Amino acid sequence: MTGPTSGTRPDEIRRHNRTALLRRLHVDGPSTRASLATELGLNRSTIKALVDGLAEAGVVAERVPALRSGAGRPSLLVLPQPHAAVVIAIDVRVEHVAMGFVGLGGEILGRDSWNLHRTRDPGEVITHIVESARLMADDLDATPLGVGISVPGVVRRSDGHVHEAPNLHWTGVSLGKRLEAVLKLPVQVGNDAELGALAEHVRGAARQSSDMVYISADVGVGGGVILSGQPLRGSGGYVGELGHMVVNPRGLRCYCGCDGCWETEVGEPALCRALGLPDDAPRGAVVATLRALDDPSLLDEFAGWLALGLANIVNVLGPELVVLGDLYTALPASVVDSVSAAVQRRSLVSRAVGGTQVVTSPLGRDAKLVGAAELAFEPVLDAL
Ligand SMILES: [Zn+2]
Repeated sequence: MTGPTSGTRPDEIRRHNRTALLRRLHVDGPSTRASLATELGLNRSTIKALVDGLAEAGVVAERVPALRSGAGRPSLLVLPQPHAAVVIAIDVRVEHVAMGFVGLGGEILGRDSWNLHRTRDPGEVITHIVESARLMADDLDATPLGVGISVPGVVRRSDGHVHEAPNLHWTGVSLGKRLEAVLKLPVQVGNDAELGALAEHVRGAARQSSDMVYISADVGVGGGVILSGQPLRGSGGYVGELGHMVVNPRGLRCYCGCDGCWETEVGEPALCRALGLPDDAPRGAVVATLRALDDPSLLDEFAGWLALGLANIVNVLGPELVVLGDLYTALPASVVDSVSAAVQRRSLVSRAVGGTQVVTSPLGRDAKLVGAAELAFEPVLDAL
C-alpha cells in the first residue's frame, strides 16, 4: 500500500503523493477533497494541486454529489474516470477462460469468456486471448495499459513463467513473455489463489483484514496468504500450494505424487463424491446439487476434512479471517458455520485470537479476475 511520504525531492514527493491519491480513488471510490486531505495526511492546497493536475489530464473529474447535506455550498466529489486507465484481466481456469477490460476504479467495462473443452494448448489459449483483446479494445474504444493474468499453477512472478499448472497440463510455459511479445504491453502473471487473496483484500471480504487466508476450489485447491497487509511470497515467488498439505497419509494418491493431500479430501471430485455425483460432474450440476441440498449432513465428512486443514493453516499463519472462494461459495451456510466452529475448537491460535472468522467470498467467481486486474494496475497506477 502506498502512503504519502516526506521524501527527499519535490518532484519525487509530488509523484508519490499523486500515486497515493490515485490508489485511494481507485480502491475506495469517489471522495471529497477535504476527506482525501484527511485520509492521506496532506494539506488542502497539495490535494487541490494534485486533483487539478489529474483533472486536466482527464484521469479524474469533479461532480456535485447526488445527495447534498447541509445548506452550504456542496463539496465536490472527486471521481476516477474508468476509461482514463484500462487494463486487461484474464482468469485462466481449468474449464474456461474469463477475460475483462477493467477501468480505473475497478469497474469491469466489458467481458468475454470461452471454454477450454476442445484444447488447453498454451499457444492456442494465447492466440485466443490476443484476438479477444483486440476485438474488445475496438468495441470499447479503449487502449489498455497493462495485463494481469491468473493461472491455476505454480508461477514465477518475476517473469510470468508458469512452472507447472497440472490441471491445465501445462509445464514450463513462458506465458508472461509470450503474451508481452504479442500484445506489446506489460504482463503480470499470478497464481490464481494468490490473486483471489489480493482481490478479497482490496475489494472483497478482507478489506479490513491485514492477516487473511484465501482458499478456493476449482477442481484443485489453492491458497493465497496476506500477512501484515502484504502477500506472502516464497522462494522465487513460489508459495501457496496449501492443497498439497498432506492430511491423510492413508488417503488417495494425488497427482503430485503424495498420498492424502488436502486436495484429495476437499477438492471438487471429493465434493462430488460426498454429494453422490460422478467425480467429474459438470460444475453447474455440482452447484445446483449444493443449492438444493436437503440434508447437509451428507457433507459432514467433507466439512471435517476442510476444518482439519484450515485449523492447521490457522495454527501456522494466524490469520484473523479465512475466505472460502470459488466452488466453496456454493456450500450451504450451515456447513460453513460448522467448519468455522470446528476450526475454533481445533486451533490454539484461533482460540487465542478470539476465533478466526471463516466466511465465503462475496466476489465469488469474479475473485481471480478482479485480482488479475489489481495485479495489472499496480505498475499502471505508479506510471499514470
Ligand atoms: Zn498433492
